Amino acid sequence: MTTALGARKWWGWGFEQDGVDPAAYEGLRASLLHLLGDARPRRIEPVDPASVRIPSPRFGLPPAIAEFASDDRLDRLSHAYGKAYVDVMRAVAGDVPNPPDWVAYPRDEAEVAAVIAFAESESIGLIPYGGGSSVVGGIEPPPCHEADRPGVITLDLRRLDRVLHVDRSSRLAEVEAGIFGPALEASLRPAGLTLRYFPQSFEFSTVGGWIATRGSGHFASGATRIDPLVAGVRLMTPRGILDTSELGLSGAGPSAVGPILGSEGSLGVVTRAWLRVRPEPTHRASTVVQFADEAAAIEAVRALGQSGMEPADCRLLSPLEAALTGVGDGRSAELLLGIESHDRPVDHDLARAIEICAAFAGRTAPAPARGDASDTDAAASRWRRWFVEAPYLRDRLALDELVVETFETATTWHRFAELHAATLRATQRAIVEACGQGFVTWRLNNVYPDGVAPYYTVLALGTAGREIAQWTAIKAAATEAIVANGGTITHHHAVGKTHRPWFERERGEVAVAALRGMKAALDPAGIMNPGTLLA
Ligand SMILES: Cc1cc2nc3c(=O)[nH]c(=O)nc-3n(C[C@H](O)[C@H](O)[C@H](O)COP(=O)(O)OP(=O)(O)OC[C@H]3O[C@@H](n4cnc5c(N)ncnc54)[C@H](O)[C@@H]3O)c2cc1C
Repeated sequence: MTTALGARKWWGWGFEQDGVDPAAYEGLRASLLHLLGDARPRRIEPVDPASVRIPSPRFGLPPAIAEFASDDRLDRLSHAYGKAYVDVMRAVAGDVPNPPDWVAYPRDEAEVAAVIAFAESESIGLIPYGGGSSVVGGIEPPPCHEADRPGVITLDLRRLDRVLHVDRSSRLAEVEAGIFGPALEASLRPAGLTLRYFPQSFEFSTVGGWIATRGSGHFASGATRIDPLVAGVRLMTPRGILDTSELGLSGAGPSAVGPILGSEGSLGVVTRAWLRVRPEPTHRASTVVQFADEAAAIEAVRALGQSGMEPADCRLLSPLEAALTGVGDGRSAELLLGIESHDRPVDHDLARAIEICAAFAGRTAPAPARGDASDTDAAASRWRRWFVEAPYLRDRLALDELVVETFETATTWHRFAELHAATLRATQRAIVEACGQGFVTWRLNNVYPDGVAPYYTVLALGTAGREIAQWTAIKAAATEAIVANGGTITHHHAVGKTHRPWFERERGEVAVAALRGMKAALDPAGIMNPGTLLA
């Protein structure tokens, strides 16, 4: 069976036609190259997928499974890598030695069960796949020559995409796990409801992927992680179904949902979830606050995070990040501040938030004349456009031979200043060593009463053929600085294969052994997503 992939790129983010304004892109590229002191135009062309050498499938499928599976070249290529910078660079170079042998597209749980049973009986690796937006190697098959198993099936859940039931009185939605963000929100909208979970990868990621990676959305505080939004999960494992149903309120024993959140496909396949939905917000107020002093801005964000207001937006951009995204002029840190509610005006809350910022010398732009769009509205909408376009821009800049990638962490407030300074120092040093020219920008992405999740973007000059080594050196230096200063290896990008050694260090032997025990109980043959999360 061949499944049409529509117009999605096989090697990178989103659709072939990315909708990025060519003039705006040229402007960004020119100013980046100017900042990097290099104006040579360079361009990498993605290889023709027909010319990529890939191994033949190592095994055949029983007819009942072959009927909904594909060994089509483009299907296998497009399921070989996630969407990290290193994935894009390997794909465009045609370096795809380990594609899955087969990609299966089950239409219901019976077909999921059939694939699990076949994979277990043949010791074949099985990789649950949602939108494939992993940036940590989460859906990448293990290297063929290393695997002590006869091959890999990728289980693409895109056909399990229904909203099964919306319980308005309990504000719960029962949905299939393969549904993508836009389809989920479109189904909830007529009822005036929303999950209000918007990761930057929203367009091309799924409920199952959000749950499996324990992701985080773009709202700054309150229920921004997926965790509190999940009331129940149905997990199909090689040993049977673990169904917590919608009873997330149960206090009987340890949380049943807990270990499934963040299990990254290593325990089984999430086929269904009960999600806590809420009314669409109808009251919104926002502004942008400027801070000449970055340390004072960070203290203001802490005060806001601990104020009990839970601002929807509380995103502090470094001066350089603000300049690159069109939000500021590069002379001050810019705080995008927004409050939302579905049942009460929020102007009073915004005024209080502005007062808190003022105590740290934060300045808001003057209110606009009636009917005019304010500068702050324009800045906020420029940020939103950047947020949506950034993955497309990343791909374009990568093809223009810039090393461009992000990394993130989280830590408590009392550790933050040191961690942040050390991370910026180590990353900048590694950029210069690896690339000669480049820089790191930052923003505070998510804000909690007890801590904060910073997010860093690296932009540096790539050297033809060495880009992956260059990024790997920068990432290693940044990671060491983070973990040495008490940061977690990931706030929301997940563990996958990339972060596994640090995850094991962070959790410690006892916790990892407990996870292994759970895996042994649910997946004794070790077929589920080999090498991801657990060795
Ligand atoms: C441009 C970009 C922006 C991003 N922004 C964010 C962000 O704002 N917040 C954030 O949290 N993450 C972000 N990510 C990372 C990624 O989008 C998330 O990890 C996302 O939750 C993955 O969802 P997915 O459906 O694409 O899963 P996939 O990439 O397909 O899979 C990810 C992992 O989950 C497992 N998995 C997927 N579906 C299931 C299932 N049904 N059952 C069991 N296991 C499953 C896979 O085996 C794999 O280990 C971003 C990535 C990119 C490329």
